[in-house]
Amino acid sequence: MYGQVNRVGRWWREHPLVMSLVAVVVAGLVAGVPLVIAGGHDHPDVAGPARPRLDEGLSERLTVTGSGVPPALSDQVRRDADDALGYVRGVWDGPWSDHVVVEIPVDDAGFRARAGRMGAGGEAAIAVTPVPAETGPDGPGAGRVILRREVYERLSAQGRQVVLRHELTHFASAAVTGSGTPLWLVEGLAETVGHAGVPLATTRAAAELAADVRSGWLPDALPSDAQFSAADGTILRSYQEAWLACRLIADRLGLGGLISFYRQVGSGRGDPQSRLDGAFRAFLGTTEAGFVAQWRSYLRAGLSPS
Ligand SMILES: [Zn+2]
Repeated sequence: MYGQVNRVGRWWREHPLVMSLVAVVVAGLVAGVPLVIAGGHDHPDVAGPARPRLDEGLSERLTVTGSGVPPALSDQVRRDADDALGYVRGVWDGPWSDHVVVEIPVDDAGFRARAGRMGAGGEAAIAVTPVPAETGPDGPGAGRVILRREVYERLSAQGRQVVLRHELTHFASAAVTGSGTPLWLVEGLAETVGHAGVPLATTRAAAELAADVRSGWLPDALPSDAQFSAADGTILRSYQEAWLACRLIADRLGLGGLISFYRQVGSGRGDPQSRLDGAFRAFLGTTEAGFVAQWRSYLRAGLSPS
């Protein structure tokens, strides 16, 4: 346990307060935006092999705090978080879920004070480091999600699940996230688990990327770490690129295979690039360049008008 906490702590120090899910608000997950379910899902559910599971007693491992927020909201968040925790544990069980804290600051000023930042307008939540046992008020390794109430309250039920599953997946994967794990893989995994089974058309969930692909643009490379903090308005597109790169891997290997790929990149031997190269070779029988070519075809096929 201690070793795991250390590894988790190291990763989080190097990726402090990873921004998450700016995308949801503009991706059609706000309440009142109709889901697009023409002919069922527009994409097979990559979470198929790993069934969601709702365990008894999850609530004992879940603390929801929200001083000053209406009880109806904290009750809603507790139900949402309980569902998301059950889902992510069904995909990736382990000690990460021994205790999860979800915090709801009463307003944006409170969010800024707690999260230490205020990201782009649509930022719905932020995941904060699991803390070492000796300093954490919530027990060893408790992960903390801070919700941005103003955004969260506008989300549809599906949007709330995407946000919470995304954040919890960061906790689930933290122990096998190496300091050299590329952010496209970190955020793409969280997005893939977050969106698994959500009946929303890809063109809507990845609207910014879809618009660029329709206009003839395709990425030349997987998004770099710097692109996840770019100030040029392309962050949403980077999240969407990361999501669809990881969803492509999950399409080929299943969600369990994507997780194995992730583990090898995060905790295998050698330097980060050689671990990534090794994972592409071992799991997909290709190189990074070969994967990028397949991903470009996947984006064109999935996002261009048919
Ligand atoms: Zn994230």
